[in-house]
Amino acid sequence: MPIASKEPAERVPLERIFGPQGWLARHHPNYEYRRGQLEMAEAVEAALENRQHLIVEAGTGTGKTLAYLVPIIRSGKRVIISTGTKNLQEQVFFKDIPFLRKLFPDIRATLMKGRQNYLCRQKLYDIEKQPVLSGMEEVDLYAEIRAWEKRTQTGDRAEIAQLPDASDLWSRIDARSESCTGQKCQQFEKCFITWMHQRAAESDVIIVNHHLFFADLALRQMEFAALLPDYAAVILDEAHEVEDVATQYFGLQVSNYRVEELARDTETTLRAKTVQSPEVLAAVADMRRHSEQFFELFPAREGRVAFDNRDKLLEVNRGAYSSLLNAFVRLESELLRIKNRPEEINNLAQRAVDLRKGFEFVLESQERNFVFWWERRGRGVFLEASPIDVSALLRERLFAKMESVVLTSATLAVGGTFDFLKRRLGIENAKEKIVDSHFDFARQALLYTPLHLPDPRQPDFARMAAEEVVQILKATRGRAFVLFTSHQQMREVHAHARRRLRYPLLLQGTAPRTALLDRFRSTPHAVLFATSSFWQGVDVQGQQLSAVIVDRLPFAVPSDPVVAARIRMINEDGGNAFTEYQTPEAVISLKQGFGRLIRSETDRGVLAILDHRIVRMAYGHAFFESLPGYRRTERLEEVKAFMREC
Ligand code: SF4
Repeated sequence: MPIASKEPAERVPLERIFGPQGWLARHHPNYEYRRGQLEMAEAVEAALENRQHLIVEAGTGTGKTLAYLVPIIRSGKRVIISTGTKNLQEQVFFKDIPFLRKLFPDIRATLMKGRQNYLCRQKLYDIEKQPVLSGMEEVDLYAEIRAWEKRTQTGDRAEIAQLPDASDLWSRIDARSESCTGQKCQQFEKCFITWMHQRAAESDVIIVNHHLFFADLALRQMEFAALLPDYAAVILDEAHEVEDVATQYFGLQVSNYRVEELARDTETTLRAKTVQSPEVLAAVADMRRHSEQFFELFPAREGRVAFDNRDKLLEVNRGAYSSLLNAFVRLESELLRIKNRPEEINNLAQRAVDLRKGFEFVLESQERNFVFWWERRGRGVFLEASPIDVSALLRERLFAKMESVVLTSATLAVGGTFDFLKRRLGIENAKEKIVDSHFDFARQALLYTPLHLPDPRQPDFARMAAEEVVQILKATRGRAFVLFTSHQQMREVHAHARRRLRYPLLLQGTAPRTALLDRFRSTPHAVLFATSSFWQGVDVQGQQLSAVIVDRLPFAVPSDPVVAARIRMINEDGGNAFTEYQTPEAVISLKQGFGRLIRSETDRGVLAILDHRIVRMAYGHAFFESLPGYRRTERLEEVKAFMREC
């Protein structure tokens, strides 16, 4: 009997599981009683029972995964857990759920990732018939995958240790939906995607990530298009990311890569199905040529750029644009002229239609709630349409439809309320809870706000801030993250620090993110200089991370097309974008960045913000009101003294 009583674990008060003498105390290796964890579990249980939405901010160290997992399992309902990253997804599935099986032996749970993570058996078999493998490495990898395909139960690429992250071979054999023929496929019964859906349909707990969850939500309005089985409730973990991910999936993107993928898949399918069609091959060549000519119109500059005047762009380049659209029409009609064509060919024709419509939407739509922009990344040119405000979409498709949506994260509240989050996401009725962290921030962390530096908008700020970083790093003997809002500033400060310090200095962009983090963890006194991607989801416990230094308040770049459109829309509607949008968003980002420092009860360290506007400007109080009760100083001497005690 898992609980020391005759009652099943589904019915005992939660105190008997999470309390000081409870089940976790007896079974969890790192258990410590946390009142906040019990309170959060009670709030989640009540929300599921009463069919309510819940917003719960729970600080680092609350143990929030167990605090939502136990009530979900006890509810007996089918619940989706959506996490911010694949890592967290795997931790829940491979660590937390197996642990809870000791208490609830009958949990039925499934891990679901995006389709590109799984093997398509049909494509694997098709590729065997074609001389398309390039080089010995690919031949070996193919043989490895072929052997693995016979024994794997999931078809999940994570099981193949030697598969490189960006594998060209994998991109030709993965189970992405646009090339899948579904029930018409000969492998449908033994397809990994079919199996995954079957497992999900028999499970009570389904663990996905936000990308899959919002992809499903965006498709759900079309009949039969859902990726996930029906569910009663959803837990959105790392919910501070929801607006961004929803913006991506309710938006639309076309790119030169998508055109090239269609060209490549058409050629591969003709070969695999031994279809002879010089007309289709000519249409593919035509599409490639026109795509190249069209995408050359976009200047070679990095960064996201708004389409200021699409009418003008189209007027001047009408020929290139129409030729590209016509190339899609030609490919579609040549594909549909193939007699006795297999289903794969119909799929390709549909993709040509979808691409043409995608281009037309991004370049011609007059939808008011969308902003249209483009971006060059490496050799890719991406044209995008993003919804400016996702609140109405989320209200209609998520909050109005679901019994219970639970949003949780360590950073959701601004100034002690969830007003910002509710406004941005369209949440009208929800229970709310802020679970205080059990860390002693006043003892564990010192927040340093030097006032002698110039305003960050002044030209000499960069030089003086760089020297201040050096002084702080001397006091902390390295062991720090220095976080920036701009790449240029990051490089300048890093170059200055290299001349002045002997600690190992790591720079974002010089190695993949995980490699940099591993090196940071294993190198004594290392310092990492990084930008936005390291502001969240990074966990380094212990003395190795003793300081987080932030150069300026992390306001989103106002010239970014989506940010600019949001600012404009709020102001036009009579609001004040600075106080209602830009400031609260920066508050959440700063909470995230600073949140890297204290990850356990024994962590100690210094937080520094070199932007004195946090003290001097009236809006600065919004930041202080939202940060935990750190001890504060404006004197470097105090930082040195604090570090000597550490
Ligand atoms: S059903 Fe789709 S994903 Fe599955 S094997 Fe067939 S084509 Fe591939």
